[in-house]
Amino acid sequence: MKTGAEYRESLRDGRRLFLNGRKVSDLEDEPLLSAGVAEVAAGYDRYYRPGGAVGPYFAFPTTAEELRAQLHELLTWDMTTVTTAQGLQALLTAAARMRADHPEYAARIEAYYDRCKREDVRGVQAITDAKGHRRLSPSQQDDPDLYTRIVERRPDGVVIRGAKMHITAAATSHELVVMPTKRMKPGEEDWAVACAVPANAPGVSIINTTYAPRGAASGEDERYWPHSSHHNMPEGFLVFDDVFVPNERVFLAGEVGHSATFAHALGLWERLGGTAHLAEIGDVLTGFAQLIAEANGLDRVSHIREKISEMVMYATLVRAGLEAAISNAEKSPEGWMFPSELYTNAAKHFGAAEFSRMVRHLHDIGGGAILTAPSPDDLASPETGAYVRKYMRTMEGVDAEYRSRLFHAIRDYTADTFGGWQHVTMLQSGGGLYAQRMVSSKHYDMATAKRMALEIAGLA
Ligand SMILES: Cc1cc2nc3c(=O)[nH]c(=O)nc-3n(C[C@H](O)[C@H](O)[C@H](O)COP(=O)(O)OP(=O)(O)OC[C@H]3O[C@@H](n4cnc5c(N)ncnc54)[C@H](O)[C@@H]3O)c2cc1C
Repeated sequence: MKTGAEYRESLRDGRRLFLNGRKVSDLEDEPLLSAGVAEVAAGYDRYYRPGGAVGPYFAFPTTAEELRAQLHELLTWDMTTVTTAQGLQALLTAAARMRADHPEYAARIEAYYDRCKREDVRGVQAITDAKGHRRLSPSQQDDPDLYTRIVERRPDGVVIRGAKMHITAAATSHELVVMPTKRMKPGEEDWAVACAVPANAPGVSIINTTYAPRGAASGEDERYWPHSSHHNMPEGFLVFDDVFVPNERVFLAGEVGHSATFAHALGLWERLGGTAHLAEIGDVLTGFAQLIAEANGLDRVSHIREKISEMVMYATLVRAGLEAAISNAEKSPEGWMFPSELYTNAAKHFGAAEFSRMVRHLHDIGGGAILTAPSPDDLASPETGAYVRKYMRTMEGVDAEYRSRLFHAIRDYTADTFGGWQHVTMLQSGGGLYAQRMVSSKHYDMATAKRMALEIAGLA
């Protein structure tokens, strides 16, 4: 296994990184990116054991209990470790589904997985293409590179060109796992490509965006961003400018029949992880709502209680859906445990679709000081501190600092840079709402539902 220090060093591998139009030569010298590196390094140190030990993020659950325990643990991992675990689980899931048709690809995926485990590397799931005109297929686009494709086939590998968008943790990872974004049709063989590319491979560029708070990065008080100044990870706009991929790293190269296998496999694991996060976030939002209602003296007012009870229902039902996904998991012939497609997708859909309403309730309950509560520096200032202390307190036991810090946390978590990121991410991660509805409908037992309705109608 790697230590945190070894991980930090491993990122100095010549990768081409950009942020705000500038080239980033060392991630740790860039204030908006260094917190992510620090978080991943801390994760390495937390799990480091000498000898041949393996990180728990590489384990594929073989029972429902192991799956539940891993999801519990996942909530404590940095986002780079989460993408590693989900990406590799997706690859193994795809290997299991392709084994009968393409045993050579399944064997390459398993060898790659063993190598990642042995070298304790971190990896991303690079699936979302640029996509161009959304209603046109890859072969109909006016620029064929709008979906990542094979531009050259060689005896020893393939050369790929294209871009993958919004890729979480690309800059802080070692491996970019490329998968087709959707099903390809016959004639679109060049776009049916899955492979693994090192982040520093010649031809790869990573253009970063981040929700790391700009103020905290420039030295302002971190207490104003209590969550996001410590927990942030960049997203990468990956460009593959004629990148050579050797055969042992190629997992699909033209077999359109399996082009959607990867996206489906990844969707399952990403949505399961997303649901686990949403269950946790549901509790956090509810906790904030109750705390700020109490601090404002409103916790016994009927419309506030009604909103909080709705948040309780939300948090509980997302958790119930997650639990159903685990309890109804099924074993593959390899002995691996796959969560229920139906419950995973339905729970993720419910959690994501209702998320913004829960944030609305919190904002409605909390009031305008969510945005305008004076900063910790204003409280400490000899000029303004007394005013803040006098007017931000509400009653005995609720002083200005306590109440302001609650407001700062709510703003950071739901209404500032991270809050905005979270708002969109909850909807789009793992594919938009429509994708989850499609998969849920596919796995729903419609025949039984129809039979039950026909029986009531006396038409059975
Ligand atoms: C913060 C963040 C992190 C992410 N991390 C990753 C990651 O690590 N790896 C990764 O691969 N992806 C990642 N994604 C990408 C995510 O999966 C996509 O944003 C999502 O699948 C939607 O794709 P899009 O953004 O291209 O939007 P679009 O495809 O433009 O979709 C926008 C809307 O249009 C609809 N739509 C699109 N095409 C059609 C059509 N043909 N017919 C009807 N409706 C259509 C969609 O359903 C959606 O409602 C991330 C996204 C975000 C926001």
